[in-house]
Amino acid sequence: MRRFLIIPLLLLLSACSSPAEIHDTRFIMGTLVKFTIIGSDRGRAAAAIAAAAHEMQRIEDAFTIYGDHPNAVKAFNASAPGAWVALPDEVAAVLTTALQVKQQSRGAFDPALGKLNLLWGFSTDPPATSPPPTAAISAAIPPGQCIEHHDKQWRRLDARCLLDFGGIAKGYAIDRGIAMLRQHGIANAIINAGGDIRLIGRHGERPWRIGIRHPRHKNEVIAKLNLQGDISIVTSGDYERFYIYHGKRYHHLIDPKTGWPANKAESATIMAPNATLADAWSTALFIRGKQGLSDIPQAMHGLLMDRHGKTVGSL
Ligand code: ADP
Ligand code: MG
Repeated sequence: MRRFLIIPLLLLLSACSSPAEIHDTRFIMGTLVKFTIIGSDRGRAAAAIAAAAHEMQRIEDAFTIYGDHPNAVKAFNASAPGAWVALPDEVAAVLTTALQVKQQSRGAFDPALGKLNLLWGFSTDPPATSPPPTAAISAAIPPGQCIEHHDKQWRRLDARCLLDFGGIAKGYAIDRGIAMLRQHGIANAIINAGGDIRLIGRHGERPWRIGIRHPRHKNEVIAKLNLQGDISIVTSGDYERFYIYHGKRYHHLIDPKTGWPANKAESATIMAPNATLADAWSTALFIRGKQGLSDIPQAMHGLLMDRHGKTVGSL
């Protein structure tokens, strides 16, 4: 008898509360990737998330320079300097974007930094705990002109030029993940890969609410945003992959000019039309510090926490 009383009560409750959020979390690209979908039935959302996660994992495998699994990027890095190598269209497209950001950011973002990144070892397993020798750092700095192409053929110009998509591939994976959600008919969603976000649509009757975390205080935010439509927000910070050695912080965002971790900022956030660009530019802005704010392309916004803990710029 009691069952018949409970059902109308549940219906009433769900009519009053906000629309149901569907969540799922996967471990991809070395980080927890959180999917949030709203305004869709569970079956459709589950299928969409499975497809998006699968695509993001495919991209990690295609772009990573770590691990034993062969891919075109590792093969390119192993090619003789000067030898022409065909790259898959997808890799060539992301590389072309990366090289454009390199040029526009005056070399602060450099996808040919792989030798330095491998040397510093922040992404190796286990990660490094002390800096490499200074002479090895100097020897790993890539020359300004490193990679060139002719149609689909690409080549390394020097043995110091190793591709590393660590500063852009996560953003690209998020963009592809959103494309998969849309292909499955999802209109309102967020993909949040460890603080790197692309959102589409709205949270029911209101915009999505996004917080940008404080680089030194995990539970504090430096900005709160109400956003809707199709917006990407990516943050690069010195607080995710780092160690303290002799009282000094060493982290995974390397200034290509010096070969050492950049020291102008604690975090850099970019709002952009897609996550690929937001990812690359957040790394670039982190390296350049506040001087870099004026080089961010139109249609993007940057917010920086400088090394003194002061925020500069706006989103
Ligand atoms: P995260 O991946 O932690 O979110 P980023 O998007 O800023 O942070 O990318 C950091 C990664 O980018 C590093 O692990 C490294 O692979 C690569 N990287 C580091 N410095 C640079 C740089 N100056 N230009 C391009 N890529 C970089
Ligand atoms: Mg980045």
